[in-house]
Amino acid sequence: MTGRPRKLHPITDVRAVLAAAARDGSTERVPLDRALGARLARDIRVDRDVPPFDRAAVDGFAICLPKNRPRGPLCAEEFRVVGVLAAGQSRRGRLRVEEAVHVMTGAPCPPGSDGVVMVERSERMGDGVVRLSGPFDVGQSPGIARRGEDALRGSLALPKGTLIGPPQIAVLAGVGCSQVPIYRRSRVDLWVTGDEVVAPEIKPTAAQIRNSNGPALTAMLEQSSSAHSVTSRQVKDTRAALRRALERSKGDVIVFTGGVSMGIYDLVPPTLREAGFRVRVHGVAMRPGKPFLFAVQGTGRSRRFAFGLPGNPISSFVAGWEFLLPFLRGRSGDPITTPPSEEARLVEAIVRKPGFTQFVLGRYTRDADGLSVRPVQSHGSGDYLALGRSNCLIPFPPEASRFEEGAVVEIHPLEGAVR
Ligand code: AMP
Ligand code: MG
Repeated sequence: MTGRPRKLHPITDVRAVLAAAARDGSTERVPLDRALGARLARDIRVDRDVPPFDRAAVDGFAICLPKNRPRGPLCAEEFRVVGVLAAGQSRRGRLRVEEAVHVMTGAPCPPGSDGVVMVERSERMGDGVVRLSGPFDVGQSPGIARRGEDALRGSLALPKGTLIGPPQIAVLAGVGCSQVPIYRRSRVDLWVTGDEVVAPEIKPTAAQIRNSNGPALTAMLEQSSSAHSVTSRQVKDTRAALRRALERSKGDVIVFTGGVSMGIYDLVPPTLREAGFRVRVHGVAMRPGKPFLFAVQGTGRSRRFAFGLPGNPISSFVAGWEFLLPFLRGRSGDPITTPPSEEARLVEAIVRKPGFTQFVLGRYTRDADGLSVRPVQSHGSGDYLALGRSNCLIPFPPEASRFEEGAVVEIHPLEGAVR
């Protein structure tokens, strides 16, 4: 079963198919400690004024100034200390003129407080009196963070679509959002095909090769945090085994590496069809990655998606980076469904046959003039060692045959790559 000759899809069509399929918008609420890396599915508003009261910004004395005193710094003034407040405590009643309350950072200053004098700028005189020992200018630095000065109740804290990193976790916790509305992230079942493929810890026989695709794709997905979880397993090159793999897949995205080309043991496409998957893409005018497959099963929210990534290590990496990752990001609420891209100056010409989009391995560096990039030599799409020397892909358009030295070209930096 070698399949019929295929019409190859231009890469732009493939990106459009994937972006449309990713636009699903299904959302869920997760506890705050599971929200890292997800995107907000709703605007988050401030649930009370920030700060919620006039907060002492320093340890010191909240004071009420004499009325009608001239502007400018105070010096050597005395106040009667009428109480002590720790953070978390509050005090009824207004502070009267020339009274002070000893307050700790974070304590609510009593009404009538004009400022808080740092403890370092004051002197206890005994008899419940405190005297300023240095200049204190209420106009310059009052030592109080006033209620609502950061934000008023109901104002926008984080807009819908925001990517949740550690800073956003602080905001969500601060405004009491303990169940966070997020776009649902995919659960990925990754199936590594290839009867010749063995786990990295096993000593291969002469004709066996180690599984590099599974660990690389798992790492790629985990680093991007666009998937919720990834389960990676191996599967035999038989229809029965592939069918069982589909049945055992619990996720909404099923990824196969290998088994999608034209060999007699490339059984992923017919098995998917048998299981009711509609093949949307099989064969792309790109190198490496030509046999790439994308298929959909079911409708609406119960849809499942299947990706077939070619088995060669560079092919599976490129197809994963260029198609799978942007799809998962799109599903998780990211409006941008193309790989991150930059411009770089080419320091060595690239020559290719036209007709296919080519992804050339590259290594870029940052210098005073910006980014520069050089192609990384490889012996073809099985040369995984070349991948280890690369930190970007250089997309080379199908109509081009040559990029000159010095040309400014697009690059797709591989996140987390060693520079
Ligand atoms: P296939 O796409 O299944 O025809 O595989 C193409 C080539 O990639 C073959 O040389 C396979 O041995 C190799 N290959 C397949 N799967 C893997 C894998 N998980 N890790 C490394 N190489 C693989
Ligand atoms: Mg194979």
